This record gives sequence, C-alpha cells and structure tokens, in this order.
Amino acid sequence: MDWINTVTGRAQPEELGMTLVHEHLLIGFPGWQMDALAPRFRRVEALARGVDRMQELRDFGVTTFLDPCPMDLGRDVEFMAEVAARSGMRIVCTTGAYKQNEGLTYTFGALPLEDIEAIYVKELTEGIGESGIRAGLVKVATGSPTISDYERKLLIAGGRAAATVGCPVITHTDNATLGLEQIEILTAQGVPAHRILVGHSDGRDDHDYHRSLADKGAYVGFDRFGIETLIPDDRRIESVGKMVDAGYVRSVCLSHDATCASWLGRPVFNGHLVAPPEAIAATLPNWECTHLFKRILPRLRKRGVTETDLHTIFVTNPRRYFRGEEAPR
Ligand SMILES: [Zn+2]
Repeated sequence: MDWINTVTGRAQPEELGMTLVHEHLLIGFPGWQMDALAPRFRRVEALARGVDRMQELRDFGVTTFLDPCPMDLGRDVEFMAEVAARSGMRIVCTTGAYKQNEGLTYTFGALPLEDIEAIYVKELTEGIGESGIRAGLVKVATGSPTISDYERKLLIAGGRAAATVGCPVITHTDNATLGLEQIEILTAQGVPAHRILVGHSDGRDDHDYHRSLADKGAYVGFDRFGIETLIPDDRRIESVGKMVDAGYVRSVCLSHDATCASWLGRPVFNGHLVAPPEAIAATLPNWECTHLFKRILPRLRKRGVTETDLHTIFVTNPRRYFRGEEAPR
C-alpha cells in the first residue's frame, strides 16, 4: 500500500506527524455484557470523553493515534471515526484478534487459517463490516509462556494478510516475552522485519532482549508508560535511555496502551478490576494517553534523550514503519 488507511480515509505516511503507536479509545474484554452489576456504557459520554482526550493530545502536538484494538476486544470503528471527525485526530485501526486466554476464540479456532487470512485482507482492503472503514494494519498477539496453536495460526494468517496487502503488523506480547518468535513467524510469511512493531517490550527492563528485537530490524514498543503495576516508569525510562545510548533510537516507539473509555463500567486489567475514573486513579494514577507529554518527556530529556531523538521516535519511526522503509543503520 502506498497510503495508510485511517478511519476517516486515506493518508500519506508523510502526513502522519507526531504519532502515538499504541493507544485505545474504547475497549471491552470478552463477556463485558455479562456484568450486570457494572455501570451502563454511555456512548454519548464516552464519545465526548474520547474527543476531549484527542483534543488534549493535539495540544501536545500529536496528530496520529494508532488504536490497535483487536476485533474481539470491543473494537468499534464507527466510534473511532466519530471521534476522529469531531476532534481532527488522525486515527488508524487494525484487523486481527487478541491472545487466546483473553480473546474470543471460538470462531477463529474453528475456521481454517486461509479463511482468517481472507477476513483480514477483506478488512484491510474493502472495509470492516459494512462501515467502509478499512483497517490500516494487522494486530497479532501472544500469551505466555509459549505461543499456543491458536495464536500461531492467527500469527501466520496475519503475516500472510499483511504481506499480501503490504501493510505493517503490530503485536501484543505478554510483558516482553516471545517477541523474537513473533518476528520469526511473521517474517517467514513475507513481512519484512521493519514492518513489525513488537508491542509491550517494556514489560521487562531486559536491554539484551530489546537490542535483540532491534537487531532483527523490528520496532521495539515501550508502549505501556503509566502502567506502573507491571514495571515502574523509572525502569522504562532507563530502558529507553539505554537504547538511545546504544544507537538504537531508530527502533524505539513510545506509547501508553491507555484507554479513554470502556464498554464495561469496570474493566479488568491484569487481573484487577479497574473502574474508571476512581479505581484507575487509585491504582494507576498516571495511566492516560497524555502521561508521556506531561511527566515522562522531561525525565527522558534529563536522561540525555535529545529533541532530535524524540523527533525520530515520534515522527520518523512511525513514518518509516508505515512506508515500509528500512531505517539506515
Ligand atoms: Zn493495547
């Protein structure tokens, strides 16, 4: 693809500007409908909240928001399109499903791999449902400690679809595990490593692991800033600093994996019920899509990350990733 599908139409990679590579507008874990005790989802309020957050991000200079919500986590591309139209934010959505233990596995478990691949290609080229909104890239996911047969099937289907269409792949890993295995499976389907972003690689501050992903040519997502119950942000900052020191700034992407709204009044995260805004504020007070700009970038600058580095991270890397252009080494 010479263009990027956004939820409001095509864009050129050159137009992306400052990009957050892994955020969510609205999410719901499978079965959210069953929680009759949760407060009701209120679409009008959720939309308003999403628009507010996008406007806040625009004030920080962010112009593109990648929302890799899997198909089975309450993905709602019309919701995304309305927020994009009302806020002026460029929003990109994905096709692809979540990891086995937290996804909706029955249908894709039963379908042959070729059918799943065809479904992904359909969403990338014709559109999602009857919305006419096309996915811009493919989402794949693995749990831990190993890749299940189900997850492997979806990785292969996703890799083939991305290779056929010529779009990038974004991944979920469980706390920085199995990234190399993901790269191996995806590249075997014809996806160049520089079109793979290995998500949640900041779940462990294992510099050798981070370098090993970058050495393969993939982008390394330090994309859960603010989720300090997994690992403190201090250690994320140090991990990013070490990558920049070692000459890997062209492989680094930063984000939060925060969500603006939830289908369920009390979303489950990491085994905890987090009911926004009160419970999120209590357990993860900084987990919001503006956290990097409000609290982390000053600390990264102090750690020696320059303005040029930040431009590479937020502007150049996403552009190259979407263009399919390999970074000079
Ligand atoms: Zn996510």
